[in-house]
Amino acid sequence: MQNLATQVYSVAPPRLRSMLASAMGYRLRHRRYGPDAEELVRQALDRESWSETTWRAWTDNRLAEMLRHAAANVPFYRNHWTARRRHGDQSPVERLESWPILDKQALRDQPEAFVADGYNASRLDHETTSGTTGAPIHLWFSLRCEQLWYALCEARWRRWNGVSREDRFGMLGAQLVTSLKQSTPPFWVWNAPMRQLYLSAYHMQPERLPLYLDALVQYRVRYVWGHSASLHALAREALRTRLGSIRFDLALSTSEPLHPRQRHDIAEAFQCPVRETYGMAENVAGASECSQGTLHLWPDAGHVEFLCEDRMAAPGQTADVICTGLLNPAMPLIRYRVGDLAKAPDPREQCSCGRSLPVIGPIEGRISDMLRTADGRLISPSAAEMVFETDLPLAEAQLVQETLNRIRVRYVPGPGYSARTEQILRGRIRERIGDLEVVFEQTNQIPRGAHGKFRAVLSLLPPPENSLAAHTETQS
Ligand SMILES: [Zn+2]
Repeated sequence: MQNLATQVYSVAPPRLRSMLASAMGYRLRHRRYGPDAEELVRQALDRESWSETTWRAWTDNRLAEMLRHAAANVPFYRNHWTARRRHGDQSPVERLESWPILDKQALRDQPEAFVADGYNASRLDHETTSGTTGAPIHLWFSLRCEQLWYALCEARWRRWNGVSREDRFGMLGAQLVTSLKQSTPPFWVWNAPMRQLYLSAYHMQPERLPLYLDALVQYRVRYVWGHSASLHALAREALRTRLGSIRFDLALSTSEPLHPRQRHDIAEAFQCPVRETYGMAENVAGASECSQGTLHLWPDAGHVEFLCEDRMAAPGQTADVICTGLLNPAMPLIRYRVGDLAKAPDPREQCSCGRSLPVIGPIEGRISDMLRTADGRLISPSAAEMVFETDLPLAEAQLVQETLNRIRVRYVPGPGYSARTEQILRGRIRERIGDLEVVFEQTNQIPRGAHGKFRAVLSLLPPPENSLAAHTETQS
């Protein structure tokens, strides 16, 4: 059904596309925001003034409950504990430290083993993510998990900044809303139930940026939301040609770290605050930035540990972000290594905004590079990684830009890899990035960067004169 809808959508004229997008939007809105949506938002905001003791009692209780549930009802964990008990291990399941760290590979290898008894995977919301190493990960969510997650997002991404889901907004995202071959607008689609103008991040050639700005004005959006790189490209155009004439109430950056230069340009171009958001497809942790510029962790979404070589990191040390989700009993993820690095926070640090949510340092999310195309588009790593975002038999994969016209796909094949996989991947790269030469290179392991961090997108091109990298060098 989803495929049929996608096929109809891909050949539909713009007006019909907006109707189809709105139909999908209606379904999403209905799922994410139940009858008690406002009450959940109010509760989330109320918790922000809790004392440390109240927080600890509440989260300890939920964590222990999730651990007991996972050990008893989730096949992967039940097998793990049965084997340990057989060997005489009496560690209590409620003690988080006695659980192993979960790497993404285990999740890739047997995703269904993480679905708890009593949940029927075919009736849960199913999503796949490229999981930052290019190999897809399957995720299933309970309806309640989605509602709780979106209440937190509503409270702490939107309400903290004076906007709500009832306000019109522009989303610069990685859904392919129209074919890359399309050369005339619209490169966007209006999704009425979500109050969202969804603009394609793939079509942003320099000469089209004025059209994007016009669309945001024409649709009267109050705020913009998108990958840092896409927002920045638009901001630079506004600074160049529309200084002082465009104003939004807020810009929210997502998926990628926000560089100080990007923040500065976006704030100046759109005359509004710029706030960073942190979250991931697995919904096991979230964070939001307050008006003081502090990033606050959401203890009600997940329990987060900062580990260095699997030991608790000292404050300030660069650490692995390890999360235990508290929202999704359908697919509990315990001590899950999300693949991000962050400076371990000092638990005593408090923010002058008065909220008691823990303060965390900058998160080094995806450290991948931007892709550049011969026609002047910049493709952010989050958008580029979408080429891997469905079920392809890849253990790992990386896009390497060698020239403006050539991309190398380095990959470690998974079971079932064939010439057909290459064909699909080549098609997807051309569909989303452009008509490029695509070469494939099989390897046993893709080399990691600093701190063992995986780069899904690597560019071998020298930075252009006006790039972020060039700015970084001149600023430092
Ligand atoms: Zn704060």
